[in-house]
Amino acid sequence: MDIVAESDVGRVRRNNEDALAYDAGRGIAVLADGMGGLDAGEVASRLAVDRIMDLLGEGLAARGADPESLITGAVQAANLDVCSQGRENQVDMGTTVVAWLLTAEGQCFIAHVGDSRAYRLRQGALKRLTSDHSMVQQMIDDGILGEAEALTAPNRNVITRALGLDLKVEVDVRSWVHRPGDLYLLCSDGLTDLISEPEINQLLAELASDLAAAAKELIGRANQAGGHDNISVLLISP
Ligand code: CA
Repeated sequence: MDIVAESDVGRVRRNNEDALAYDAGRGIAVLADGMGGLDAGEVASRLAVDRIMDLLGEGLAARGADPESLITGAVQAANLDVCSQGRENQVDMGTTVVAWLLTAEGQCFIAHVGDSRAYRLRQGALKRLTSDHSMVQQMIDDGILGEAEALTAPNRNVITRALGLDLKVEVDVRSWVHRPGDLYLLCSDGLTDLISEPEINQLLAELASDLAAAAKELIGRANQAGGHDNISVLLISP
C-alpha cells in the first residue's frame, strides 16, 4: 500500500491546526482539522488522530471486530477525549475528523465529522465520499444555495458538527467494495476551499502513479490560490 501525507501551514496562518497519521500495514489513515484559541486547535486535532489510530490499530489487531462499529466507536471515543481535554483546560476546542479503513477482505470504510473530506478516484473520475457537516451544505441540501454559489459563500467555513462540542456526536459512516486501481484522497478544507473538484480530478488522474508529486502539486496550487488556511492531504493507493 502506498500512502503519502503532506500538511502545510499555508500563507496566512501562524499555526498548523491540521493533524494526520496513517499505518499502511494496517490499512488505516486519519486526518483532522482542529479549532480553538491559542494552541487548542492543534491539541484537539492531534488528540483525535492519535486516539483513533490507536483504537483502530488495536481493533484490527484483535480481529473479529465489526469494522463499522470499530470506526464509529473510535471517533466517538476521540470526541470524549477532546471534550474532557477542553473541560480540564477550560478552553473551547474542537476538531473535524475523517478516518479511512480498508479491511483485509477489501471492504473500505470512511467515517467523518465536520468538513474535512474524502474522495475516491476510480477510472479517472473523482467522487466525493463525504457530505460536509456545514451550514453551506445544509443550505445546498435544502435547495437554498447552488453548489457554485457555495464555493464563495461567506459562511462556508461554519461547521455544524465537530468533535469536542458535545459528549454525543453523530458520526457518518459509509462503506463500499474497494476495486484495484482506486485512489483515495483525504483532505482539509484548506484544499477544497481553493481548488475546485474538476481541478483536483484532473491533477490526480495525471499524477496517480506518483502520489508524492500529486500531494506536492495539490498543496502548491492551494498556496498559489492564496493559502488562507492550513492545507493537508493524505493520498492512498492500496
Ligand atoms: Ca481548516
